[in-house]
Amino acid sequence: MARIYCIANQKGGVGKTTTTVNLAAGLALVGQRVLLVDLDPQGNATMGSGVNKRDLPLTVYDVLLESATIPEAAQRSTSGGYDVLGANRELAGAEVELVALERRNERLRRALKAVDDQYDFVLIDCPPSLNLLTLNGLCSAHGVIVPMQCEYFALEGVSDLVNTIRQVHANLNRDLELIGLLRVMFDPRITLQVNVSDQLKAHFGDKVFNTVIPRNVRLAEAPSYGQPGVVWDPASRGAVAFIEFAREMVEREKHPATAELR
Ligand code: ADP
Ligand code: MG
Repeated sequence: MARIYCIANQKGGVGKTTTTVNLAAGLALVGQRVLLVDLDPQGNATMGSGVNKRDLPLTVYDVLLESATIPEAAQRSTSGGYDVLGANRELAGAEVELVALERRNERLRRALKAVDDQYDFVLIDCPPSLNLLTLNGLCSAHGVIVPMQCEYFALEGVSDLVNTIRQVHANLNRDLELIGLLRVMFDPRITLQVNVSDQLKAHFGDKVFNTVIPRNVRLAEAPSYGQPGVVWDPASRGAVAFIEFAREMVEREKHPATAELR
């Protein structure tokens, strides 16, 4: 059975797509079967996996509207060793179209059920807002991975997201839990970041992943080559950290945390 995780944070530019693409490639490198679902109309995770969003015959849009299945619409990443259910601008219209439809929150969940035995991990890259697309992600998933920068207002933003997760858990998807907070773009020379990181650990305990992703220019360069950083420069500090994070995720699956959703 596939473990399905949303990579979500309502803020833009916090590292969601970088995390999704590099975790997908990292998990593939350690032998896991992975499907990346791009739920952001910007299609950055699609492009960053070496799949051209502009010439996709079928995308996640067609899957949400139930005019295609995932095996029909998914592509193989040209660089990352995983499958990609891609997105492009067409997806922006799906929100409006979904509103009028039955089971509008559950479209992705149903589609994923059909490929459950084909993957070990499904990673869903969410857009930076709580819209119907993100809700489809949250209703499909076992958990949420929250990438965050250790900045002054970070804790506030995380509390909002934790409340959202709690509400979806209570009303729409009993499986959903906060898997963990991933510190990204971390710079240990900045005292504020170290302080916020300490506060996070004090407040969220083992919900903070052990792995820390450093700020690393190689991770930022990789998308322009259509490659995850993990593949583009495997020896870079950012790539090494993401491979470590993939290992941490696989370990967590072997020893599922018993901590309650807080
Ligand atoms: P989001 O999907 O949340 O909008 P992105 O993953 O697209 O965020 O990241 C925003 C920007 O920050 C991108 O230009 C990306 O390349 C860069 N970036 C992300 N993570 C890192 C990192 N660890 N080090 C350096 N740059 C990063
Ligand atoms: Mg993104």
